[in-house]
Amino acid sequence: MPQVETEDKDLEKGESILVKISQEAELSDYSPVKGCIVIRPYGFAIWELIQSALDKMIKETGHENAYFPLFIPESFLKKEAEHVKGFAPQCAVVTFAGGKELEEKLVVRPTSETIINHMFSKWIKSYRDLPLLINQWANVVRWEMRTRPFLRTTEFLWQEGHTAHATNNEAEAEARKMLQVYKTLSEEVLAIPVIDGIKTENQRFPGAESTYCIEGLMKDGKSLQMGTSHNLGQNFAKVFDIKFQDTNGELQYVYETSWGVSSRLIGAVIMTHHDEKGLKLPPKIAPVQIVIVPIYKEDSERSLVLNKCKELQNGLKDDFRMKLDDREQFTPGFKFNFWEIKGVPIRINIGPRDVSNEVVEIVRRDTNEKLKNIPIEGLKQYLIKLSTEIQANLFRQAKEFQAKNTVNVKDEKEFTEKIKSGGYLTGFWCENLSCEEVLQKKTKATIRCIPFNLPVDQSKEEGYCIVCNKKSKLRVIFAKAY
Ligand SMILES: [Zn+2]
Repeated sequence: MPQVETEDKDLEKGESILVKISQEAELSDYSPVKGCIVIRPYGFAIWELIQSALDKMIKETGHENAYFPLFIPESFLKKEAEHVKGFAPQCAVVTFAGGKELEEKLVVRPTSETIINHMFSKWIKSYRDLPLLINQWANVVRWEMRTRPFLRTTEFLWQEGHTAHATNNEAEAEARKMLQVYKTLSEEVLAIPVIDGIKTENQRFPGAESTYCIEGLMKDGKSLQMGTSHNLGQNFAKVFDIKFQDTNGELQYVYETSWGVSSRLIGAVIMTHHDEKGLKLPPKIAPVQIVIVPIYKEDSERSLVLNKCKELQNGLKDDFRMKLDDREQFTPGFKFNFWEIKGVPIRINIGPRDVSNEVVEIVRRDTNEKLKNIPIEGLKQYLIKLSTEIQANLFRQAKEFQAKNTVNVKDEKEFTEKIKSGGYLTGFWCENLSCEEVLQKKTKATIRCIPFNLPVDQSKEEGYCIVCNKKSKLRVIFAKAY
């Protein structure tokens, strides 16, 4: 692939791959507003496929979609002390509108807990109103100085779930359930294996009792937080006075959750599935699952080949998102590169000899393997099977990468040495926040989570904190992160 001009001169290797693929595969482009990107049609089509898969899962678990305003009165954000402390540095604030200074400043939402809780306080009166299960698809703004397409941008797209419950047990179950929905989305749709677990206090969502996350290991050895789910306890309920009458007629505060994933998932797909040729898309989120490229030299071959291509396209288009690349102005070689950069999972090449032999040539993007002389008879069934196999193989490749790049460490010396090559390090931690900070200062690595299950074999052994050597039963996952 040709070199691309990037905005940042000091992009690390992984980030330069991200920028290169985003640009060359026409997923996104830089915008005139620093920190923001334009999502181009091909990138947006991927987002729409992710969105529709997740939206279905969110509705199947009983949630309804709603929409709340982009602007939040500044006073709302200030009500919850931790929340404002966490978000204020990244907030964009509107002070002037309609030709005059505003009486109350309006914050462009960095997240919507405050405005949604304000509404919940009006809607929730009795135990009969619970649980209240709401989701919103929206854009949010968190000011960024450096653009990393899809991974970190000032404005991004996401969904945010907000729920209210009668008991803490229900809220806890909800927060954990939605994390599992995210895990399923990531592994079964995006083909990205993740580690699910709980965040340490340092990494907790501002205003939450506990934060759960899924983390994916990107090909450059960095971890990406791909989704979070929070048990908010009664923190926001008390601030926004959300009370309900329980079955005994007593007034109680509700227990709440919030959870979200964003267009960062596109960044995760890019950083997990690529090679030197470009992107490799899992079939489930590929805007084009199969591309047909006609190959002919003589004019006399042209209609013979093209007619066969059209016939194939017609026979397959009900089962696949198809594209027949019959552009006259480009050579087949150019088209091969074009669709490889874009990560189309399956390419079908057809030349005059294939037509007379009633066969096609198929190229898989996951392995770049050429499959010759595949009979046209039964092709649909063959492709359905191949598509499933490509989806599974991309997951398998990523899982192997994760396993290969996860190591146990015993002490700080080993940690400092091994973190240099990236990947996940697992080690014991004494739960003292200062030990976590020591490692972060020295190596920039953080505790990504206390995993529910570790990807490496481990008995329920005891060990010693890798920093202070205190006895510990808690093995955690460390990594450098985006
Ligand atoms: Zn320690």
